[in-house]
Amino acid sequence: MVMKRLAILGSTGSIGTQALDVVAANPDRFSVTLLSGHANVNLLVEQAKKFKPAVVVVTNEDKYPAVKEALTMQQTRVLCGHDALTEAVAADNIDVVLAAIVGFAGLASTLAAIKAGKRIALANKETLVVAGELVMEQARIHKAGILPVDSEHSAIFQCLVGENPATLEKVILTASGGPFLGKKSNYLVNVKAAHAMQHPTWTMGAKITIDSATLMNKGLEVIEAKWLFGLSDEQIEVVIHPQSIVHSMVQFTDGSIKSQMGLPDMKLPIQYALGFPERIANQYPRFSFKDYQKLSFELPDYKTFRNLAIAKEALRIGGNAPCVLNAANEVVVYAFLANKVGFQEMSDMIEKTLEKVPFIPHPVMEDYIKSDVEARTYTNEFLKKSQLSVY
Ligand code: NAD
Ligand code: MG
Repeated sequence: MVMKRLAILGSTGSIGTQALDVVAANPDRFSVTLLSGHANVNLLVEQAKKFKPAVVVVTNEDKYPAVKEALTMQQTRVLCGHDALTEAVAADNIDVVLAAIVGFAGLASTLAAIKAGKRIALANKETLVVAGELVMEQARIHKAGILPVDSEHSAIFQCLVGENPATLEKVILTASGGPFLGKKSNYLVNVKAAHAMQHPTWTMGAKITIDSATLMNKGLEVIEAKWLFGLSDEQIEVVIHPQSIVHSMVQFTDGSIKSQMGLPDMKLPIQYALGFPERIANQYPRFSFKDYQKLSFELPDYKTFRNLAIAKEALRIGGNAPCVLNAANEVVVYAFLANKVGFQEMSDMIEKTLEKVPFIPHPVMEDYIKSDVEARTYTNEFLKKSQLSVY
């Protein structure tokens, strides 16, 4: 068995902490070379003491002194800032980089790891939403394998193992539907962050939990699937499956459909991506038909959950549109979490931002950075205006 040396970017988050659970359960397979965290200093320090990485990067520079101070007794280098992180991920003593920072903030370090030819376990779907074409091209050039951590994409990847890629007809992404499945606009106008945070099947970070409630998460995943598996827009279908047991499906050219199933537990796709090509045995709870006698499927309500339709449209438009979509979405999601915008209004503001930011058909990296900033500026203006009209 070859020991894999890991860099875990965003180790203090929901994916990061679950990845460290997987590492702790498999000390003969994984060691930790690098951890990065942004705000939760206490947890980052605790993780560094337990896993003894060579390097810890605190991306939030204000928090650096506290982490540095707490780790003086240890042989861990403590660095700070995003530039330090993009440099540190390229180190020779790293085999696999788990990209688990949330949002656009994860793009630069993931891209740096790709350019260093590392194997990437990709949780940060926003990287592919913003700059999928460029990221996949760099992965090909630098022979950096990208293994999906997102449960749907892990399912598709697992269904494709041993298959001829030319026989793939389409993929069917499943979505739980979130806490507001079946609800209509008259109900959604009044929902607040606390309610949207109650996801029925998954426990996740705040941003993705809101994205799941609005179905933007599925829209982002459609875009992610396109780039990961080289699909056309027509080859990606979405179906609501409230139990989150069937994690996604692949339909082949003979009409056969394969699915990957299991309990909704992110440790499973995380350990699959980290362990690939091996399947690592574990003692996590097992699926039982005693608990799930009915698995159900229904079509998404695109009229009520407009974000899914808007994301698909951004994908169809292409160029910098998905990047603008992502930036606008990040702004409204954090505003919604702070109770500064209504649930339904989020879609309006994303749509308006898409209309405002100039279209760039073939963006390069600098264009993505510029479009991201422009989109955030417009969305923040819309937010300000809507708040003025409320008070
Ligand atoms: P989270 O909010 O729980 O954790 C985010 C991590 O990123 C933390 O370690 C935080 O310190 C770090 N971070 C936050 N802002 C940062 C910044 N500006 N710069 C650098 N680091 C920063 O998020 P999560 O739920 O773990 O999600 C992480 C990524 O994985 C997201 O892209 C999400 O879409 C994806 N994902 C998550 C799940 C899940 O179950 N949580 C499932 C599928 C995909
Ligand atoms: Mg997912």
